[in-house]
Amino acid sequence: MAEDAAALCVRCKTEPAAHDLRTENVCSKCFTPFISAKTIKRIEQLQRSTRAFGRPAADAQRYLVALRPGGVSSTALLSVLWDNVRQQRARGQRVKFDVVVAVVDTDLSVEADDVERDDAGSGIVEEGGEDGQATRRRSETEVLLDAYRARFPDVKFTRIPLADALTLDTVSWAALPRGSSESSPVPSAPARRLAGLLARLPSTTSRADVVRLLTRHLLVRAAGRARCDVLLLGYNTTSLAALTLAETAKGRGFGVPWAVQDGEISLPSWTGDGDDTRNEADNDDTKENGETHSSSSSSIPVYHPLRELFRKELVTYTGLTDPPLTPLLPSLAGSSSSSARAVVSHKDLSIDDVMTRYFGEVEASYPSVVANVVRTTGKLERRAATTATAGESGSSCGLCGMGLDEAGDERWRGELGEPAAARSGDGGGGQAGNDDDDDGRKRLCYGCERSVYG
Ligand SMILES: [Zn+2]
Ligand SMILES: [Zn+2]
Repeated sequence: MAEDAAALCVRCKTEPAAHDLRTENVCSKCFTPFISAKTIKRIEQLQRSTRAFGRPAADAQRYLVALRPGGVSSTALLSVLWDNVRQQRARGQRVKFDVVVAVVDTDLSVEADDVERDDAGSGIVEEGGEDGQATRRRSETEVLLDAYRARFPDVKFTRIPLADALTLDTVSWAALPRGSSESSPVPSAPARRLAGLLARLPSTTSRADVVRLLTRHLLVRAAGRARCDVLLLGYNTTSLAALTLAETAKGRGFGVPWAVQDGEISLPSWTGDGDDTRNEADNDDTKENGETHSSSSSSIPVYHPLRELFRKELVTYTGLTDPPLTPLLPSLAGSSSSSARAVVSHKDLSIDDVMTRYFGEVEASYPSVVANVVRTTGKLERRAATTATAGESGSSCGLCGMGLDEAGDERWRGELGEPAAARSGDGGGGQAGNDDDDDGRKRLCYGCERSVYG
Protein backbone atom coordinates (compact mmCIF):
# COMPACT_ATOMS: atom_id res chain seq x y z
CA MET A 1 0.00 0.00 0.00
CA ALA A 2 2.73 2.41 0.97
CA GLU A 3 4.55 1.75 -2.27
CA ASP A 4 1.50 2.57 -4.30
CA ALA A 5 1.84 6.20 -5.27
CA ALA A 6 -1.90 6.43 -5.82
CA ALA A 7 -2.68 5.45 -2.22
CA LEU A 8 -2.29 8.62 -0.28
CA CYS A 9 -3.21 9.16 3.34
CA VAL A 10 -6.90 10.04 3.50
CA ARG A 11 -6.23 12.64 6.19
CA CYS A 12 -3.34 14.77 4.96
CA LYS A 13 -3.55 13.61 1.33
CA THR A 14 0.19 14.17 0.88
CA GLU A 15 1.99 11.28 2.56
CA PRO A 16 1.62 7.69 1.40
CA ALA A 17 -0.94 5.70 3.36
CA ALA A 18 0.83 3.17 5.54
CA HIS A 19 -1.61 2.06 8.27
CA ASP A 20 -5.16 0.89 8.56
CA LEU A 21 -6.93 3.08 11.03
CA ARG A 22 -10.50 1.94 11.58
CA THR A 23 -11.97 2.50 8.11
CA GLU A 24 -9.22 4.77 6.82
CA ASN A 25 -5.76 4.37 5.39
CA VAL A 26 -3.45 6.91 6.95
CA CYS A 27 0.22 7.80 6.97
CA SER A 28 2.52 7.48 9.96
CA LYS A 29 2.36 11.21 10.64
CA CYS A 30 -1.41 11.14 10.95
CA PHE A 31 -1.58 7.94 12.98
CA THR A 32 0.11 9.20 16.14
CA PRO A 33 -2.08 12.30 16.57
CA PHE A 34 -5.14 10.05 16.34
CA ILE A 35 -3.92 8.04 19.37
CA SER A 36 -3.06 11.19 21.30
CA ALA A 37 -6.37 12.87 20.51
CA LYS A 38 -8.43 9.84 21.59
CA THR A 39 -6.50 9.70 24.86
CA ILE A 40 -6.42 13.40 25.67
CA LYS A 41 -10.14 13.65 24.93
CA ARG A 42 -10.73 11.24 27.82
CA ILE A 43 -8.35 13.21 30.03
CA GLU A 44 -10.31 16.39 29.33
CA GLN A 45 -13.51 14.58 30.17
CA LEU A 46 -11.90 13.38 33.39
CA GLN A 47 -10.88 16.94 34.24
CA ARG A 48 -14.41 18.17 33.77
CA SER A 49 -15.96 15.46 35.91
CA THR A 50 -13.38 15.47 38.71
CA ARG A 51 -13.09 19.23 39.02
CA ALA A 52 -16.31 19.41 40.99
CA PHE A 53 -14.82 17.59 43.96
CA GLY A 54 -11.17 18.00 43.03
CA ARG A 55 -8.76 20.87 43.10
CA PRO A 56 -9.34 24.49 42.15
CA ALA A 57 -9.29 24.94 38.40
CA ALA A 58 -6.05 26.91 38.51
CA ASP A 59 -4.06 23.99 39.88
CA ALA A 60 -2.64 21.29 37.69
CA GLN A 61 -4.14 17.93 38.48
CA ARG A 62 -1.77 15.20 39.52
CA TYR A 63 -2.13 11.78 37.92
CA LEU A 64 -0.70 8.51 39.07
CA VAL A 65 -0.09 6.41 35.98
CA ALA A 66 0.06 2.69 36.64
CA LEU A 67 2.85 1.32 34.49
CA ARG A 68 3.76 -2.25 33.68
CA PRO A 69 7.25 -2.01 32.25
CA GLY A 70 7.24 -3.86 28.96
CA GLY A 71 3.47 -3.49 28.67
CA VAL A 72 2.34 -1.94 25.40
CA SER A 73 -0.73 -0.21 26.70
CA SER A 74 0.53 1.50 29.85
CA THR A 75 3.74 2.47 28.04
CA ALA A 76 1.69 4.10 25.30
CA LEU A 77 -0.40 5.90 27.91
CA LEU A 78 2.67 7.27 29.66
CA SER A 79 4.12 8.35 26.31
CA VAL A 80 0.97 10.20 25.22
CA LEU A 81 0.66 12.05 28.53
CA TRP A 82 4.35 12.86 28.71
CA ASP A 83 4.34 14.16 25.18
CA ASN A 84 1.24 16.24 25.86
CA VAL A 85 2.81 17.89 28.92
CA ARG A 86 5.91 18.60 26.86
CA GLN A 87 3.82 20.25 24.16
CA GLN A 88 1.92 22.31 26.71
CA ARG A 89 5.23 23.58 28.08
CA ALA A 90 6.66 24.22 24.61
CA ARG A 91 3.64 26.34 23.75
CA GLY A 92 4.07 28.29 26.97
CA GLN A 93 0.67 27.12 28.19
CA ARG A 94 -0.31 26.53 31.76
CA VAL A 95 0.38 22.85 32.36
CA LYS A 96 -2.93 21.12 33.02
CA PHE A 97 -1.60 18.01 34.72
CA ASP A 98 1.49 16.42 36.23
CA VAL A 99 2.31 12.77 35.84
CA VAL A 100 3.91 10.44 38.36
CA VAL A 101 4.36 6.76 37.69
CA ALA A 102 3.90 3.74 39.94
CA VAL A 103 5.09 0.27 39.06
CA VAL A 104 3.98 -2.74 41.06
CA ASP A 105 6.72 -5.33 40.76
CA THR A 106 5.08 -8.74 40.95
CA ASP A 107 8.34 -10.69 40.94
CA LEU A 108 8.37 -12.00 44.49
CA SER A 109 11.54 -14.05 44.08
CA VAL A 110 13.91 -11.07 44.11
CA GLU A 111 12.56 -9.66 47.35
CA ALA A 112 12.85 -13.04 48.97
CA ASP A 113 16.58 -12.86 48.24
CA ASP A 114 16.75 -9.88 50.54
CA VAL A 115 16.92 -11.93 53.68
CA GLU A 116 19.19 -14.77 54.60
CA ARG A 117 17.87 -17.96 53.25
CA ASP A 118 17.41 -20.43 56.03
CA ASP A 119 15.87 -23.11 53.92
CA ALA A 120 17.63 -25.12 51.30
CA GLY A 121 16.34 -25.71 47.84
CA SER A 122 14.69 -22.38 47.16
CA GLY A 123 16.18 -22.62 43.72
CA ILE A 124 17.21 -18.99 43.69
CA VAL A 125 20.76 -18.32 42.65
CA GLU A 126 22.11 -15.16 44.15
CA GLU A 127 24.54 -13.18 42.08
CA GLY A 128 27.64 -11.77 43.70
CA GLY A 129 28.02 -8.01 43.84
CA GLU A 130 30.94 -6.01 42.54
CA ASP A 131 32.97 -6.19 45.70
CA GLY A 132 32.17 -9.78 46.30
CA GLN A 133 29.24 -8.69 48.39
CA ALA A 134 26.01 -10.48 47.90
CA THR A 135 23.44 -8.16 46.38
CA ARG A 136 19.83 -8.69 45.70
CA ARG A 137 19.14 -9.92 42.22
CA ARG A 138 17.35 -7.24 40.23
CA SER A 139 14.01 -8.11 38.79
CA GLU A 140 13.24 -7.86 35.11
CA THR A 141 11.00 -4.93 36.01
CA GLU A 142 13.84 -3.05 37.69
CA VAL A 143 16.13 -3.56 34.73
CA LEU A 144 13.44 -2.31 32.33
CA LEU A 145 12.65 0.63 34.58
CA ASP A 146 16.13 2.02 34.00
CA ALA A 147 15.30 2.25 30.30
CA TYR A 148 12.03 4.03 31.13
CA ARG A 149 13.84 6.53 33.34
CA ALA A 150 16.19 7.30 30.46
CA ARG A 151 13.33 7.65 27.98
CA PHE A 152 11.17 9.85 30.26
CA PRO A 153 13.86 11.74 32.18
CA ASP A 154 11.68 14.21 34.10
CA VAL A 155 9.16 11.67 35.35
CA LYS A 156 9.22 10.25 38.87
CA PHE A 157 8.93 6.45 38.90
CA THR A 158 8.11 4.58 42.08
CA ARG A 159 8.58 0.85 42.23
CA ILE A 160 6.31 -0.95 44.69
CA PRO A 161 7.17 -4.55 45.54
CA LEU A 162 4.06 -6.74 45.51
CA ALA A 163 4.99 -7.95 48.99
CA ASP A 164 4.12 -4.47 50.28
CA ALA A 165 0.54 -5.66 49.87
CA LEU A 166 0.90 -7.39 53.24
CA THR A 167 0.86 -3.95 54.85
CA LEU A 168 -2.41 -2.96 53.14
CA ASP A 169 -5.20 -2.14 55.53
CA THR A 170 -7.67 -2.26 52.65
CA VAL A 171 -7.44 -6.05 52.59
CA SER A 172 -8.88 -8.22 55.31
CA TRP A 173 -5.98 -10.60 55.76
CA ALA A 174 -8.02 -12.67 58.16
CA ALA A 175 -10.22 -13.55 55.19
CA LEU A 176 -7.30 -15.15 53.35
CA PRO A 177 -5.70 -18.51 54.09
CA ARG A 178 -3.28 -18.34 56.97
CA GLY A 179 0.41 -18.53 56.26
CA SER A 180 2.64 -21.16 57.71
CA SER A 181 4.61 -18.53 59.63
CA GLU A 182 3.04 -19.60 62.92
CA SER A 183 4.81 -22.90 62.73
CA SER A 184 8.11 -21.37 61.68
CA PRO A 185 10.41 -20.04 64.40
CA VAL A 186 11.83 -17.31 62.15
CA PRO A 187 9.41 -14.82 60.63
CA SER A 188 9.93 -15.10 56.91
CA ALA A 189 10.36 -12.15 54.61
CA PRO A 190 7.11 -10.57 53.42
CA ALA A 191 7.84 -11.64 49.85
CA ARG A 192 8.22 -15.23 50.84
CA ARG A 193 5.16 -15.12 53.03
CA LEU A 194 3.07 -13.66 50.22
CA ALA A 195 4.49 -16.22 47.80
CA GLY A 196 3.44 -18.90 50.27
CA LEU A 197 -0.05 -17.48 50.45
CA LEU A 198 -0.35 -17.39 46.66
CA ALA A 199 0.98 -20.94 46.42
CA ARG A 200 -1.87 -22.13 48.64
CA LEU A 201 -4.50 -20.72 46.27
CA PRO A 202 -6.35 -23.35 44.29
CA SER A 203 -5.40 -22.47 40.71
CA THR A 204 -3.41 -20.33 38.29
CA THR A 205 -6.55 -18.27 37.75
CA SER A 206 -6.87 -17.69 41.49
CA ARG A 207 -3.28 -16.53 41.76
CA ALA A 208 -3.59 -14.16 38.79
CA ASP A 209 -6.86 -12.87 40.24
CA VAL A 210 -5.48 -12.19 43.72
CA VAL A 211 -2.31 -10.61 42.32
CA ARG A 212 -4.43 -8.30 40.15
CA LEU A 213 -6.58 -7.27 43.11
CA LEU A 214 -3.58 -6.67 45.38
CA THR A 215 -1.93 -4.65 42.62
CA ARG A 216 -5.02 -2.49 42.35
CA HIS A 217 -5.07 -1.92 46.11
CA LEU A 218 -1.39 -0.97 46.08
CA LEU A 219 -1.97 1.50 43.27
CA VAL A 220 -4.89 3.14 45.08
CA ARG A 221 -2.75 3.48 48.19
CA ALA A 222 0.22 4.79 46.19
CA ALA A 223 -2.00 7.40 44.56
CA GLY A 224 -3.14 8.61 47.97
CA ARG A 225 0.39 8.74 49.31
CA ALA A 226 1.66 10.64 46.28
CA ARG A 227 -1.23 13.08 46.74
CA CYS A 228 -2.58 12.30 43.30
CA ASP A 229 -6.04 13.36 42.23
CA VAL A 230 -6.70 10.47 39.89
CA LEU A 231 -5.35 6.99 39.21
CA LEU A 232 -4.93 6.23 35.52
CA LEU A 233 -4.87 2.64 34.30
CA GLY A 234 -3.59 1.56 30.90
CA TYR A 235 -6.48 -0.69 29.92
CA ASN A 236 -7.55 -0.37 26.29
CA THR A 237 -10.77 -1.46 24.55
CA THR A 238 -9.37 -4.93 24.01
CA SER A 239 -8.13 -5.49 27.56
CA LEU A 240 -11.28 -4.00 29.08
CA ALA A 241 -13.33 -6.50 27.07
CA ALA A 242 -11.08 -9.30 28.30
CA LEU A 243 -11.39 -8.07 31.88
CA THR A 244 -15.17 -7.91 31.59
CA LEU A 245 -15.49 -11.52 30.52
CA ALA A 246 -12.80 -12.76 32.89
CA GLU A 247 -14.48 -11.13 35.89
CA THR A 248 -17.81 -12.55 34.87
CA ALA A 249 -16.34 -16.02 34.43
CA LYS A 250 -14.82 -15.78 37.88
CA GLY A 251 -18.20 -15.09 39.48
CA ARG A 252 -17.58 -11.41 40.04
CA GLY A 253 -19.93 -10.16 37.36
CA PHE A 254 -21.64 -7.83 39.82
CA GLY A 255 -18.34 -5.97 40.24
CA VAL A 256 -17.72 -5.43 36.52
CA PRO A 257 -18.96 -1.81 36.51
CA TRP A 258 -16.39 -1.00 39.20
CA ALA A 259 -13.63 -2.89 37.44
CA VAL A 260 -14.02 -1.38 33.97
CA GLN A 261 -15.89 1.91 34.18
CA ASP A 262 -14.33 5.26 34.96
CA GLY A 263 -15.16 6.74 38.33
CA GLU A 264 -14.59 6.79 42.04
CA ILE A 265 -13.38 3.62 43.75
CA SER A 266 -13.66 3.21 47.52
CA LEU A 267 -11.79 0.55 49.41
CA PRO A 268 -12.70 -0.23 53.01
CA SER A 269 -10.21 -0.03 55.84
CA TRP A 270 -9.66 -3.10 57.99
CA THR A 271 -7.69 -1.44 60.76
CA GLY A 272 -8.05 -3.33 63.99
CA ASP A 273 -8.32 -6.60 62.19
CA GLY A 274 -5.93 -8.01 64.75
CA ASP A 275 -4.24 -10.05 62.11
CA ASP A 276 -0.70 -11.04 62.89
CA THR A 277 0.35 -11.35 59.29
CA ARG A 278 0.07 -7.66 58.75
CA ASN A 279 1.59 -6.63 62.06
CA GLU A 280 4.55 -8.82 61.36
CA ALA A 281 4.98 -7.20 57.98
CA ASP A 282 4.79 -3.77 59.54
CA ASN A 283 7.91 -4.53 61.51
CA ASP A 284 9.87 -5.24 58.40
CA ASP A 285 11.46 -2.65 56.24
CA THR A 286 8.66 -2.16 53.79
CA LYS A 287 10.27 0.70 51.89
CA GLU A 288 7.45 3.05 52.77
CA ASN A 289 7.97 6.69 53.60
CA GLY A 290 6.20 6.35 56.89
CA GLU A 291 3.40 8.52 55.65
CA THR A 292 0.08 7.02 56.53
CA HIS A 293 -3.36 8.11 55.58
CA SER A 294 -5.79 8.39 58.40
CA SER A 295 -9.09 8.24 56.60
CA SER A 296 -11.17 5.17 57.28
CA SER A 297 -11.37 4.28 53.64
CA SER A 298 -9.27 4.90 50.58
CA SER A 299 -11.13 6.39 47.72
CA ILE A 300 -9.93 7.84 44.45
CA PRO A 301 -11.23 8.34 40.92
CA VAL A 302 -9.88 5.63 38.61
CA TYR A 303 -9.87 6.33 34.87
CA HIS A 304 -8.94 4.38 31.73
CA PRO A 305 -7.95 6.99 29.14
CA LEU A 306 -7.18 4.40 26.44
CA ARG A 307 -10.62 2.84 26.58
CA GLU A 308 -11.45 3.87 23.01
CA LEU A 309 -8.29 2.44 21.48
CA PHE A 310 -7.60 -1.11 20.39
CA ARG A 311 -4.49 -2.89 21.48
CA LYS A 312 -3.26 -3.31 17.89
CA GLU A 313 -3.49 0.47 17.41
CA LEU A 314 -1.35 1.02 20.48
CA VAL A 315 1.17 -1.51 19.19
CA THR A 316 1.42 0.49 15.95
CA TYR A 317 1.73 3.71 17.95
CA THR A 318 4.70 2.40 19.94
CA GLY A 319 6.64 2.00 16.71
CA LEU A 320 5.82 5.48 15.42
CA THR A 321 6.80 7.74 18.29
CA ASP A 322 10.04 9.65 18.06
CA PRO A 323 12.10 7.91 19.27
CA PRO A 324 10.11 4.66 19.08
CA LEU A 325 8.99 3.01 22.30
CA THR A 326 9.81 -0.45 21.02
CA PRO A 327 13.13 -0.76 22.92
CA LEU A 328 11.02 -0.62 26.10
CA LEU A 329 8.84 -3.46 24.90
CA PRO A 330 10.96 -6.59 24.55
CA SER A 331 7.85 -8.78 24.50
CA LEU A 332 6.85 -7.33 21.13
CA ALA A 333 10.10 -8.30 19.47
CA GLY A 334 9.81 -11.36 17.31
CA SER A 335 6.27 -12.23 18.25
CA SER A 336 2.89 -11.48 16.86
CA SER A 337 1.35 -8.39 18.31
CA SER A 338 -1.69 -10.05 19.77
CA SER A 339 -0.02 -12.73 21.84
CA ALA A 340 3.15 -11.53 23.45
CA ARG A 341 3.99 -14.61 25.42
CA ALA A 342 4.22 -18.11 24.11
CA VAL A 343 1.99 -20.68 25.71
CA VAL A 344 4.15 -22.96 27.80
CA SER A 345 1.33 -25.08 29.08
CA HIS A 346 -2.39 -24.55 28.90
CA LYS A 347 -2.62 -25.70 32.48
CA ASP A 348 -0.68 -22.58 33.49
CA LEU A 349 -3.00 -20.19 31.72
CA SER A 350 -5.36 -18.18 33.89
CA ILE A 351 -8.83 -17.18 32.76
CA ASP A 352 -7.38 -13.68 32.39
CA ASP A 353 -4.70 -14.99 30.01
CA VAL A 354 -7.24 -16.93 27.99
CA MET A 355 -9.51 -13.89 27.66
CA THR A 356 -6.58 -11.66 26.72
CA ARG A 357 -5.55 -14.06 23.98
CA TYR A 358 -9.10 -14.51 22.80
CA PHE A 359 -9.83 -10.82 22.45
CA GLY A 360 -6.40 -10.22 20.95
CA GLU A 361 -7.49 -12.52 18.13
CA VAL A 362 -11.09 -11.30 17.86
CA GLU A 363 -9.84 -7.73 17.64
CA ALA A 364 -8.07 -8.45 14.36
CA SER A 365 -11.21 -9.47 12.47
CA TYR A 366 -14.13 -8.22 14.52
CA PRO A 367 -13.10 -5.04 16.32
CA SER A 368 -16.73 -3.94 16.63
CA VAL A 369 -17.49 -7.02 18.74
CA VAL A 370 -14.72 -6.06 21.14
CA ALA A 371 -15.85 -2.45 21.28
CA ASN A 372 -19.41 -3.61 21.90
CA VAL A 373 -18.45 -5.56 25.01
CA VAL A 374 -16.93 -2.44 26.51
CA ARG A 375 -19.79 -0.20 25.43
CA THR A 376 -22.31 -2.57 26.98
CA THR A 377 -20.33 -2.74 30.21
CA GLY A 378 -20.24 1.04 30.24
CA LYS A 379 -24.01 1.07 30.41
CA LEU A 380 -24.21 -1.18 33.45
CA GLU A 381 -25.28 0.59 36.57
CA ARG A 382 -23.02 0.91 39.55
CA ARG A 383 -25.71 -0.03 42.01
CA ALA A 384 -26.16 2.62 44.67
CA ALA A 385 -26.68 0.01 47.35
CA THR A 386 -23.15 -1.17 46.81
CA THR A 387 -21.49 2.22 46.83
CA ALA A 388 -23.40 3.34 49.87
CA THR A 389 -21.74 0.66 51.92
CA ALA A 390 -18.33 0.85 50.35
CA GLY A 391 -15.86 2.15 52.86
CA GLU A 392 -17.58 0.44 55.76
CA SER A 393 -15.54 -2.64 56.24
CA GLY A 394 -18.38 -4.59 57.83
CA SER A 395 -20.30 -4.79 54.60
CA SER A 396 -17.50 -4.92 52.05
CA CYS A 397 -15.60 -7.84 50.58
CA GLY A 398 -12.30 -8.27 52.39
CA LEU A 399 -10.37 -8.79 49.17
CA CYS A 400 -11.85 -6.87 46.25
CA GLY A 401 -13.51 -4.24 48.45
CA MET A 402 -16.88 -4.39 46.74
CA GLY A 403 -19.98 -4.04 48.85
CA LEU A 404 -21.41 -7.39 49.90
CA ASP A 405 -24.88 -8.23 48.77
CA GLU A 406 -25.60 -11.02 51.21
CA ALA A 407 -28.89 -12.08 49.72
CA GLY A 408 -27.30 -12.30 46.30
CA ASP A 409 -24.31 -14.16 47.62
CA GLU A 410 -26.46 -16.72 49.38
CA ARG A 411 -28.56 -17.22 46.30
CA TRP A 412 -25.50 -17.89 44.20
CA ARG A 413 -24.31 -20.47 46.66
CA GLY A 414 -27.70 -22.08 46.92
CA GLU A 415 -28.05 -22.45 43.19
CA LEU A 416 -24.67 -24.05 43.01
CA GLY A 417 -25.65 -26.49 45.73
CA GLU A 418 -23.05 -25.29 48.15
CA PRO A 419 -24.58 -24.32 51.47
CA ALA A 420 -21.97 -22.36 53.39
CA ALA A 421 -21.91 -24.80 56.29
CA ALA A 422 -21.02 -27.74 54.07
CA ARG A 423 -17.90 -26.15 52.74
CA SER A 424 -15.33 -26.62 55.41
CA GLY A 425 -11.62 -27.30 55.12
CA ASP A 426 -10.33 -27.59 51.59
CA GLY A 427 -7.09 -29.02 52.94
CA GLY A 428 -5.17 -26.01 51.66
CA GLY A 429 -4.78 -24.13 54.90
CA GLY A 430 -4.37 -27.11 57.14
CA GLN A 431 -6.41 -25.70 60.00
CA ALA A 432 -9.30 -28.10 60.23
CA GLY A 433 -12.46 -26.78 61.81
CA ASN A 434 -11.02 -23.34 62.31
CA ASP A 435 -13.70 -20.83 63.19
CA ASP A 436 -11.48 -17.97 62.03
CA ASP A 437 -11.36 -19.57 58.65
CA ASP A 438 -15.13 -19.56 58.41
CA ASP A 439 -15.33 -15.97 59.59
CA GLY A 440 -12.78 -15.11 56.96
CA ARG A 441 -14.86 -16.65 54.21
CA LYS A 442 -17.86 -14.65 55.30
CA ARG A 443 -15.87 -11.50 54.62
CA LEU A 444 -15.45 -12.36 50.96
CA CYS A 445 -17.83 -11.86 48.07
CA TYR A 446 -18.78 -14.89 46.04
CA GLY A 447 -16.14 -14.31 43.36
CA CYS A 448 -13.31 -13.73 45.82
CA GLU A 449 -14.31 -16.71 47.90
CA ARG A 450 -14.14 -18.94 44.84
CA SER A 451 -10.76 -17.47 43.99
CA VAL A 452 -9.29 -17.93 47.43
CA TYR A 453 -10.85 -21.18 48.57
CA GLY A 454 -11.65 -22.89 45.27
ZN1 LIG B 1 -1.39 11.69 6.71
ZN1 LIG C 1 -14.60 -9.73 46.48
